[in-house]
Amino acid sequence: MANKPLSSEEVTSLVQGLNQLARNLWWTWDQEAQELFQDLSPRGWQNLYHNAVAILHEVSETELRARLQDPDFASHVGQVLQDFKSYMGDKKTWGAKHAPALLKNPVAYFSAEFGFHETLPIAAGGLGILAGDHTKAASDLGLGFCGISLFYREGYFQQAVDHNNWQTEFYSRLDPKNLPIEPVMDAQGKPMVLSVRIALSDVKLLAWRANVGRVPVYLLDANHPDNELHFRDLTKRVYGGDTTTRIMQEIILGVGGVRLLRALGVQPSTFHMNEGHAAFLTLELIREKMAGGRKFDDALATTKAECIFTTHTPVEAGHDRFNSELMTYAAHDFAEQLKLSSEQLMALGRVNPADKHEPFCMTVLALKISRAANAVSELHGEVSRHMWQCLYPGVAQDKVPIGHITNGVHVAGWMKGTVRRFWRKRLTNGNAQAITPAGTGDTTRFWQTGQGHDWANQINSPDFWQKMLDPKFVSDEELWALRYKLRRELIEFSRRRLLLQAQRVTHDDFIAFDQLLNPDALTIGFARRFATYKRAPLIFQQFENIVRLTRDTKRPVQFIFAGKAHPRDDDGKRFIQHIIHLSRFSDLKGHLVFIENYDVHVARQMVSGCDIWLNNPRRPLEASGTSGMKASCQGCLNLSILDGWWREGYDGTNGFAIGDDSHPSSVEEQDRLDSANLYKALTEQVIPCYYDRDANGIPRAWLQKIRRAMATLVTQFSTCRMVQDYAEKYYLTK
Ligand SMILES: *Cc1c(COP(=O)(O)O)cnc(C)c1O
Repeated sequence: MANKPLSSEEVTSLVQGLNQLARNLWWTWDQEAQELFQDLSPRGWQNLYHNAVAILHEVSETELRARLQDPDFASHVGQVLQDFKSYMGDKKTWGAKHAPALLKNPVAYFSAEFGFHETLPIAAGGLGILAGDHTKAASDLGLGFCGISLFYREGYFQQAVDHNNWQTEFYSRLDPKNLPIEPVMDAQGKPMVLSVRIALSDVKLLAWRANVGRVPVYLLDANHPDNELHFRDLTKRVYGGDTTTRIMQEIILGVGGVRLLRALGVQPSTFHMNEGHAAFLTLELIREKMAGGRKFDDALATTKAECIFTTHTPVEAGHDRFNSELMTYAAHDFAEQLKLSSEQLMALGRVNPADKHEPFCMTVLALKISRAANAVSELHGEVSRHMWQCLYPGVAQDKVPIGHITNGVHVAGWMKGTVRRFWRKRLTNGNAQAITPAGTGDTTRFWQTGQGHDWANQINSPDFWQKMLDPKFVSDEELWALRYKLRRELIEFSRRRLLLQAQRVTHDDFIAFDQLLNPDALTIGFARRFATYKRAPLIFQQFENIVRLTRDTKRPVQFIFAGKAHPRDDDGKRFIQHIIHLSRFSDLKGHLVFIENYDVHVARQMVSGCDIWLNNPRRPLEASGTSGMKASCQGCLNLSILDGWWREGYDGTNGFAIGDDSHPSSVEEQDRLDSANLYKALTEQVIPCYYDRDANGIPRAWLQKIRRAMATLVTQFSTCRMVQDYAEKYYLTK
């Protein structure tokens, strides 16, 4: 029997729904919603880099309306919109129950970068990704929460590599029309304009809103036509320009952010500074109070009670410092408004207020004017208390008021589609069944079982991940099949990327790219910012040994690397150059590849497809690290120094450790020792375990480690757990 055609009104309502859906980043962590845009234009999905808004521009309204007369497609759209609506309208959230006060007076979370998705590239690395994941979890939990950042027209740079294997940066201009953001309007329906004083000018700011599920994130933009040209470019690039640009960006973030919230009528209960970049917000809060007639000391004390601060790194360069000339030039307005001398203003950012040569440090300002501060792992807490003890004379190191909340990741957002389908199948069937290959018979949608939301909650539930220990829930055979599928997807992704990379610079034999990498080999991944303390090339210190491992025909090993160096970090660029050189001209050719232009999309491919996620920072400089957390739910195991999160996550059964819970004080000694221990762990534990197969070719012990990793790491290192910790420990306590 033919289906009754949809009425014109019904079609219009679905079209409107789709347009709303594309402009809320919720779709980036909902598999069904993504499949829907992909279905609309499979080629566009790839070429437009998974940009739902751009796809809706690419597909005409006529085409869309015609497509919606396909009952299967229309019902898919209808179900996704229904899920979206019930997500947005859910009143029985964790936040409504445990933090109702925040619904009226939310947490305002300030961060210089946010990483949500590859279509909105306004993050430089882990800090921004964490901010994005924090926001997504705040939305899932129904917490009263909003984000503040900058709208960088050119985002973070795109990486290419020239014929000398030297990283080059290029920027493409983002078009707001094609992004999931919308202009913030004032009461008259005109674009809202704010103003902040920088140097001798009043700089006008526009604002954009990104909808992240239930949470708004506001992005300030100095590109207002009334501003002088050099001011218009202030918010052009993530951490772009020199320290002058930096301090001006930070004035915009801190001062502009508070003013924006006031203009919107938002009265936050807590201002959360994610890293020191946002710390000028404290001075704006003091100014407001003084404008209301309060004295400086009194205003400072009240402001302090409103603010909390998270520090993210023990690396010196990660703490912004501005000298007094720059402060006087760019930020003298603070002194005027707060009725302070330049020296008194400088003192707020100094460990030793009397030291006229000490620069102004944003971390010091943030620590001085916040009611609580935290580091991002247990070890980082210890390191930070040691590092900042100088600010608390007479206080014993373990009493320095810096606590810790270990970072997490947003599980639903990082889980690859293949993996989500795999788990969804098991959840909706309620028992283990053979996998139906995707795209053939997999038509059971979880909403058909009425368990849509159940599924979304389940993957944040420790009970669900405990089930992984039970082979009746999922068999070794199925898990191994999943691992093979994910590895192949990564290898084919790498082949495609490497072909594109090669076409730019060489005239290699392109057919060869289809033979690149071995789908049966133990695949080791390393991808993160190429900051030197992360020591990307450490493993190649044992060059001859590593070559031997890759050439072992029975137990081969291969490597996939990716990562960007900061544009001004030549040492980081040399690391990239070295690794690409090895991949093209050494005996590692064919067993080592470097994928250019690392971003969220590349990260998701790698943390799902690799068997081992390698992490070898110079301890204790990796405050937490988060990329390894993204691996656990997909069955990729960690091989890592016991630094940051892994020192808490590793229990002897759920992955591999390099070295032990200590490190020598000399850097040379540490590099030597870590490189030896890395090789040792690889050859004595990782490789034997991976290649220990039973008669059916199944690596039972390896899969047991994967089960242990899933049961012990996924929910523990999720932002769902992390944001609840923030709420209970910091947001709800004054
Ligand atoms: C997760 C992630 C990071 C952070 O990785 P670390 O190992 O913590 O340094 C950086 N960049 C991108 C794109 C990521 O997805």
